Formats: sequence, structure tokens, C-alpha cells
Amino acid sequence: MNPELGIREDVERVLIDEKVIEKRLDVMAEQIANDFPPGPILAVVLLKGALVFAADLLRRIPRPLEIECLNVASYHGGTESSGQVKFLDQHLPDVRGRHVLLLDDILDTGRTLRAVSDRLKEMGCAVVHTGVLLAKDKVRSAEVEADYVGFQIGDEFVVGYGLDFMGRYRNLPFVGVLKS
Ligand code: 5GP
Ligand code: MG
Repeated sequence: MNPELGIREDVERVLIDEKVIEKRLDVMAEQIANDFPPGPILAVVLLKGALVFAADLLRRIPRPLEIECLNVASYHGGTESSGQVKFLDQHLPDVRGRHVLLLDDILDTGRTLRAVSDRLKEMGCAVVHTGVLLAKDKVRSAEVEADYVGFQIGDEFVVGYGLDFMGRYRNLPFVGVLKS
């Protein structure tokens, strides 16, 4: 095999495999579809980490739905949160009066979800519900919990299913831990 393509060889262990993720997304999608009031849902997807999760989750929600993406940065290539959330887009979507489903890959310190949902509310959203594929089992520095959580995991650095290390491994179809 071409070593450039052998990303699975860098994985120490699989934490959540593809089939398990798919089953869980079926359940989450049904909950979301039932919970949101009538009218179109606006999904706001945090790039790039939530890309894979959102693509798989949103296709399971059989309701009128629009998608917007936001680029925010809280990590700068390392494995520790920098503590600051930067909005990188020049133009933010018009969310006034909308029922928003805000999606991120993982809830770690909570700062990202807190900062973005506060911002969306300031921008005039009717409601903001939050969903994450993963939530780390730890005390958060920002007061926030997600409304929809795929899986609770331990406090360790994970990759795959959208989550990266130095820009790579987002295309792993499972969530796993890298060899050190
Ligand atoms: P928070 O603001 O909750 O501390 O961090 C959220 C962001 O940090 C996530 O959107 C994600 O980009 C990044 N992050 C936190 N923990 C992990 C992790 O274990 N693996 C990866 N790849 N990114 C993480
Ligand atoms: Mg992220």
C-alpha cells in the first residue's frame, strides 16, 4: 500500500466504530426531527470538524432544512485548546428568527459551543439547540452542555470522523486514538 494512504496504521485503537456511529445517528436524527417546532430548521455546521458528522446526521432528518457553515478556530494545530475562539468568516449568515441546530464535532472545554451559540443568539436566532458527536467527560471551562450528544468519551485526544490531528485523519470512518 502507498504509505501516504496508510492512515489506519497510525491508529492505536478504534474507540467508536462506523456501525456504532451510524446506529447512534439514526436515534439522534429522530430526536431532532421530533423536537424542533414546525417550520424549517437551520443547521449551522462548524467547519471543518463537524463536516462528516453533519453530513451523515442531516441526511437522516426528513424535514425542511437549510445548512450554513461557520469557520471558527479554537485549536491552532496542536492538541491543546488555545482558549480563544476566532470567527474566521467575513460574512455571517442571516439567522434572525431562525430555529438553529448548531453542530460541532466535540465538546471539550466548551468554549467553542458557548462562544458560537452566544453569538448566534446576539444575531437574533429564535432558538439555538446544540449537537455534538462527542463530549469529553470532564469539567468544562465554559458553562455549556449540548442538547444532543452522540457519545461521551474520556478526556483524551481523538481523531477521525471529521476530527483531525494537524489537518489529517478527518477521513477515518471511525473515531480513534493515534499512536503517540
Ligand atoms: P472546546 O472549545 O470545547 O474546548 O473545543 C472544541 C474544539 O476543539 C472542537 O471543535 C475540536 O476542533 C477541538 N478538539 C477538542 N478536543 C479534541 C480532540 O480530542 N480531538 C480533536 N481532533 N479535536 C479536538
Ligand atoms: Mg473544531
